[in-house]
Amino acid sequence: MSNKKYVVNIVELPNKVLREKSKDVPLPLSQEDIELAEKMIYHVEDSVKPNSIFRPAVGVAAIQYGIPKKMFYIYIKDRNDQVLFRELLINPKIISKSESKVALKSGEGCLSVDEDYPNQDGFIKRSSRIIVEGYSYFEKKIVRHDQSNYVAIVFQHELDHLEGKLFIDHIDKKDPWKKPIDLHLI
Ligand SMILES: [Zn+2]
Repeated sequence: MSNKKYVVNIVELPNKVLREKSKDVPLPLSQEDIELAEKMIYHVEDSVKPNSIFRPAVGVAAIQYGIPKKMFYIYIKDRNDQVLFRELLINPKIISKSESKVALKSGEGCLSVDEDYPNQDGFIKRSSRIIVEGYSYFEKKIVRHDQSNYVAIVFQHELDHLEGKLFIDHIDKKDPWKKPIDLHLI
């Protein structure tokens, strides 16, 4: 892994680029796409270090830099600062999603939605389990991820970005904190 620093410019709402659908990335990766992957890794990993200049994140999608390519990076640490999940996935496809739903108790957030942006609070219903297939930047091959709960939520948040969707689209505008009986909160 390089120690190179990258210039990170995050696209935020109301920029319409965030509504674009991302396109497949040709494999093997071009040098440009390798640089993009390295930048995503640098950005998210740096964001959770003390004194980082970046807003803390557990993931980023290429479209958040204004680049409509099907790529995202997920980097999740546990309470003890151990890496719980890490993957940079290219051209991901959803294989299956559970009927059962889960949501974060405190709602979701996104680097592309400023903390002062209106109407971003509320439950975001996600499938509690998801199976996703895609090309792993680290393993250099197609891999399959079968994830539940928190990691599954992050996957769905990032997958949405590739479709031009944002978490705020899922909020019940009339009653953002309405909890259906079958919605499991974590
Ligand atoms: Zn996001």
